[in-house]
Amino acid sequence: MFKRIMIANRGEIALRIMRCCTELGIETVLVYSSEDADSIPVQLCTQAVCIGPAAPAKSYLLAETIVQAAKAYHCEAIHPGFGFLSENAEFAELCQENGIEFIGPSAQMIRDMGDKQAARSRMRKSGVPVVPGSDGIVASAEEAKQIAEKIGYPVLLKASAGGGGRGMRTAFDADEIETAFESAQAEAQSAFGDGTMYLEKLILNPHHIEFQILGDKHGHIIHLGERDCSMQRRNQKLIEEAPAKCLTPKLRSAMAKAALRAASAVGYYSTGTVEFVLDHDGHFYFIEMNTRIQVEHPVTEMVTGVDLVKEQIRVAAGLKLSVKQSDIHIEGHAIECRINAENPAKNFAPSPGTVEFLHFPGGFQVRVESALYQGCRISPWYDSMAAKIIVHAPGRLEAIRRMRMALEETIIEGIDTNIDFLLLIMFNPDYMMGNFDTSYIESHTQGLLDWDRESRSEN
Ligand code: ADP
Repeated sequence: MFKRIMIANRGEIALRIMRCCTELGIETVLVYSSEDADSIPVQLCTQAVCIGPAAPAKSYLLAETIVQAAKAYHCEAIHPGFGFLSENAEFAELCQENGIEFIGPSAQMIRDMGDKQAARSRMRKSGVPVVPGSDGIVASAEEAKQIAEKIGYPVLLKASAGGGGRGMRTAFDADEIETAFESAQAEAQSAFGDGTMYLEKLILNPHHIEFQILGDKHGHIIHLGERDCSMQRRNQKLIEEAPAKCLTPKLRSAMAKAALRAASAVGYYSTGTVEFVLDHDGHFYFIEMNTRIQVEHPVTEMVTGVDLVKEQIRVAAGLKLSVKQSDIHIEGHAIECRINAENPAKNFAPSPGTVEFLHFPGGFQVRVESALYQGCRISPWYDSMAAKIIVHAPGRLEAIRRMRMALEETIIEGIDTNIDFLLLIMFNPDYMMGNFDTSYIESHTQGLLDWDRESRSEN
């Protein structure tokens, strides 16, 4: 096992990794930006190294600086967390060239899956169902129109380098293709420096179902069941749960098989997630594979009892997975809510600032993942996710009740948050019944906010 690793991330995920390392007896060196100098991870790590100012391009994305710091501080491996350099194949390669283990899959696997359009072709060849669409890249709006005529509208134009819901536009007819193509391409070019586009049929109001994969360097690949991440706003997940209420055992097993096939096609190791959209007729299609630890990994940990970060570190150190497929049993139901520093009533505008008072919930099977503390500043430079609350219970309705309790107990003063909005969802009959898909938040937001306003004025 490693003696000392570097954590190249910040906030709650840096803390999550650090806690795991402490348990494993591994020392941690944390790189941080001057903006995060007062953060909890900086206080708790073995050693902290400031690598630059707030702007990610001048700190958390400085691949060369981070690798040099890892060498100078005698780290044997680097954990990239999620976001930042976590899916950057050049960074994984740079680590390797410098004799440092990248805690994740190989650079080649990141490359194979990171080019979403190429991954799609590979998956199709491996017998994994993909969304009907273009055979390869789509070079122009004209070409996109021709393909759309063949497969039928509506369609989705997607950036091959896409991520975080960016570089994606829908088109419901030929007239819309022109603007959709241009704006998606421009967004992709500025966000990823790559405007390569492809096209998929838009599956109307699907479920987003993803399977957690775990593999080691000895050829073992297992899955740890699915998560339903359909509760999204602007393609960004807000609430995740496991297991997915909408799956029958037969469908679950077919999707798990496809997920394993997808991961095996690239000989995958480390933690990874195979994402599918599932339509209302029970057809499912691969959309992408994320080659890192996901924000929502705790829901899987709660229902399986497997520490995914620990497995990820063990695998990077060359050890075998500590669990076999036959050891994986899904127990009960887990839900995660992402608490963001944002104002739902102001179109979810980010709300950075100082946390003046803070109280997090506790209790049986309630888990909080956050690096917040009273008096801390939430920076406008980074993601607005401030905390994750995860609950586990024997059944879904009990988990919902536990989540209501946990959210009601949470107090974050000084900034705006989406806590009340999440609570409204937890009380919404459609959500409780499991009547939701990826269109839920878009179609329910106004109703939920009106409901809230009306009930407040009645009181
Ligand atoms: P990103 O990598 O930017 O997150 P994804 O390909 O994972 O992009 O898609 C993000 C979300 O967009 C999915 O969770 C799903 O809700 C929606 N989506 C993606 N592809 C399709 C599709 N072909 N039809 C309908 N919805 C889709």
